[in-house]
Amino acid sequence: MTSEENRIDPRPETTCARPAPEPRSANAPLSPPIHLSAVYRLEGLEQVDALNGGKAAGFIYARDGHPNASQLAAKVAALEGAEAALVCASGMAAEAAALLATLDGGDHVALSEGVYGKTAVLLRRELSRFGIASSPFDATRPETLRAALMPRTRLVFAETLSNPLLRLADIGGLSEVAQQAGAILVIDHTFAPLLCRPLELGADLVTHSATKLIGGHSDLTLGLLAGSTERIARAGAVASAFGLTGNPFESWLALRGIATLGLRSARACATAQELAGRLGRQPGVRAVHYPGLPSHPDHARALAVLPGGFGTIATIDLGDRDRADAFIRALRHIPFAPSLGDVSTTLSHPATTSHRGQSPEHWARQGITPGLVRLSFGLEDPDDLWDDLRQALV
Ligand code: PLP
Repeated sequence: MTSEENRIDPRPETTCARPAPEPRSANAPLSPPIHLSAVYRLEGLEQVDALNGGKAAGFIYARDGHPNASQLAAKVAALEGAEAALVCASGMAAEAAALLATLDGGDHVALSEGVYGKTAVLLRRELSRFGIASSPFDATRPETLRAALMPRTRLVFAETLSNPLLRLADIGGLSEVAQQAGAILVIDHTFAPLLCRPLELGADLVTHSATKLIGGHSDLTLGLLAGSTERIARAGAVASAFGLTGNPFESWLALRGIATLGLRSARACATAQELAGRLGRQPGVRAVHYPGLPSHPDHARALAVLPGGFGTIATIDLGDRDRADAFIRALRHIPFAPSLGDVSTTLSHPATTSHRGQSPEHWARQGITPGLVRLSFGLEDPDDLWDDLRQALV
């Protein structure tokens, strides 16, 4: 035998290529590790059967599930009072999973007026190609939902707080009408995590863009869906087949974001309430839309159903596009960044961003004008924000 044949150490290329074994440890880390592995080792065929049949806990392929998604889903299910939750690649992916898991060709969706622009695009431009029709209703008036129902209405979709006028849906009323019609109620809770629990008010599924307040730092894109074990299992199967599930690193980041969600939300809600009041007294501001102000059309409902605060977003009407543009340019510190829910305060101009491309009639029905500027409040000292806002308004 040659010395080469006797060697027990692998050759260098093999050492490089072999996966490193998990370090042996008698104890567990305090904070969750990031599990980036796309695939998991399997002991043998019986284990594959057990894992696939739900008889053993574990993972096979990351698109179907991974530890960071399980940790995030468990946290979100607990926050929403849900049996289960699913982590998706974006807020839109979570909505798509809910819709695709529920609807067949020929079905009808009742879609609240003024939902996020891409949600409307998903239904009106994309799912319509597969024979799924939709019609609008006003989420603050359940009687308009009754009027929008069709024989094949299987799903009702609304947002807790609408964008940009922060109209508060009557979730309880919508749920009654949807239930009588044999349809499920899906609530997009992106603008209001922790402010109320839509499932307790009668919703069947809750979606979130975790890209916003749940992530909280504008550094991840992720979506969440929460509801019954049965509905989430079906949505999970659909999400795997369509490739809609979320990845480990962003799930880990969102888990980290959630750790401070309660503090961030409380602080930003308090700032929004204070500055919405001050903005309402500024001469250049024609109107302020904030559910915490008595002038808001849904203030009474907000007092009843939003025990967690009135939200972190307020929208001001500056009259016209030129005034909105001058204000945006005059701000020294608050950036025009068309998203929301960051630790720092940002603003958006709905007419040129989230609601771009919608018809003037559509805008008129929703009360959207080119003078509207939406402010998403962050964690700064409110007086520093006020200094910036006030100097930009003169
Ligand atoms: N729902 C609402 C209310 C949103 O504002 C957004 C994005 O802005 C979405 C859903 C979509 O979320 P994502 O961008 O994570 O796909």
